Amino acid sequence: MTSILLPDSETEIEAIVHEAAQSHSPLAIHGGGTRPIGKPVHADRTLSTKLLTGITLYEPSELVISARAGTPLAEIQQTLAANRQRLPFEPIDYRHLLGNHGIPTIGGVTASNSSGPRRIHSGAARDSLIGVRATTGRGETIKSGGRVMKNVTGYDFVKLLAGSWGTLAVLTEITYKLLPEAETELTLLLTGLSAECAVEAMTTALGTPFEVTGAAHLPATDGMPTRTALRLEGFDASVRYRTDRLYSVLQPFVAFETIAAEASRVLWASIRDVEALETPHDATIWRISVRPTDGPRVGESLKAKLGSRVLYDWAGGLVWASAPADGDGGAAVVRGAVASVGGHAMLVRGSPELRASVPVFEPESPGVAAMSRLIKATFDPAGVLNPGRM
Ligand SMILES: Cc1cc2nc3c(=O)[nH]c(=O)nc-3n(C[C@H](O)[C@H](O)[C@H](O)COP(=O)(O)OP(=O)(O)OC[C@H]3O[C@@H](n4cnc5c(N)ncnc54)[C@H](O)[C@@H]3O)c2cc1C
Repeated sequence: MTSILLPDSETEIEAIVHEAAQSHSPLAIHGGGTRPIGKPVHADRTLSTKLLTGITLYEPSELVISARAGTPLAEIQQTLAANRQRLPFEPIDYRHLLGNHGIPTIGGVTASNSSGPRRIHSGAARDSLIGVRATTGRGETIKSGGRVMKNVTGYDFVKLLAGSWGTLAVLTEITYKLLPEAETELTLLLTGLSAECAVEAMTTALGTPFEVTGAAHLPATDGMPTRTALRLEGFDASVRYRTDRLYSVLQPFVAFETIAAEASRVLWASIRDVEALETPHDATIWRISVRPTDGPRVGESLKAKLGSRVLYDWAGGLVWASAPADGDGGAAVVRGAVASVGGHAMLVRGSPELRASVPVFEPESPGVAAMSRLIKATFDPAGVLNPGRM
C-alpha cells in the first residue's frame, strides 16, 4: 500500500521532491490517475496534484488560460465554453478505453501530450502550450515560456515537458493558447471504403483549401459498413460552402451522407476517445504513429496477423489497433509492422504484467536513448520522479 501525499502549493511540492531526492525515495506522480500508461512505477509514495487546483489567469480577449496542474480538465472546458472558446487540440478522455473513473487534470493532459483528431489542423497539446511552471527532481521550480508566445527564450522546456509523462518534473502550472469555438460543424461520411481508399479520400480532402479539421476511418461493425468521416468547422455559411465544394472533389468516392452539428460532435467525441475499440475490455490496445499513406499497410497487416480491430485517425497517420491480451499482447508483430515503414507504437492498454514485460514506448535509437538519459540525469539526478515509467 503506497501513501498518498497531497500538497496544495508549489512550495510544498518542492519540499517533498527535495526530501525524496535526498533520501533516494521514489515518487509516483499522479494527476487524476486516468492515464495509467507506461511501465508500472514502483514507489512507496504517490505525489498527487489533486489539491493543486484553480484557474490562475484567463483572458478571453488574449485567448490565453493558465491553471494549476491539478485543475480538472472539465472545469477548464466549462470556463472556456462560457466564452465560446476551447483548447485547440481536443484532448482524449481515456476513462472509457482504460476503464477507470478518475478526473482528468490539465497536468495529466500536458504530461501525456494528449492530442485528439484536431491535431491535423491545430497541432498537438505541445503546440498550444506556451508556458509551464514545474518542479524538477532536484526540488527546484523552473519557469519556461509565459503567457505570450514571444516569452520563449533559451531552451524550450515547454515543448520538452509536454509528453514527458512526469519523468522529468512535476508540472505545477500550465498556460495554453486558445481558439474560438466554431459556430457550427458538419461531417461528411463516406461509407464502405477500404482502408486504402479511405486514406486516399482523406489525404485528397486534406490537400484541398477547405480546411478539414478531422479525418478518420472507422471499422465496420455488425450490420454497418466502414465509415470515413471528414469534419468541417466554422461559420455556418462557410461550412455549407466548403461542404459543397468538398463534395464535388470527393465525387469519385461515392456513397455520401452528411451529419449535422450535434450528431457530428457526438461522432468526433467517440473517435477522439477510441470508442470503436473499447470492447472486448481485455484486448490490448496499441497507438501507432506513421505516415498517413503507410497507415493501411500497418493496419491491414495487424488485422491479418493478430485479428486486430483498427481505427484510423489523422488521415491514416494515427492507427489505433486492438490485439490479443495473451502472450506479448501483439508486441512483436506491432513493432515489426512499424519498423517496416518507420514510425512509433505505444502500448496504451495492457495489464500491469504485460506493461512490465514488453517495451511500452517505441524503443529509442542509441543516439536518442543517450540524449534521453542525459536529459533525465539533468532534471532528476536521483531518479525519483516516476522511475521506470518510460
Ligand atoms: C499529415 C501527417 C504526416 C506524417 N508524416 C510522417 C512522416 O513522414 N514520418 C513519420 O515518422 N511520421 C509521420 N507522421 C506521424 C507523426 O510524425 C507522429 O504523429 C509524430 O511523430 C508524433 O510525435 P509526438 O512526439 O509529437 O507525438 P506524441 O503523441 O507525443 O508521441 C508519440 C509517441 O511517442 C511517445 N513519446 C512521447 N514523448 C516521449 C519521450 N519523451 N520518450 C519516449 N517516448 C515518447 C508517446 O508516448 C507516443 O507513443 C505524420 C503524421 C501526420 C498527421
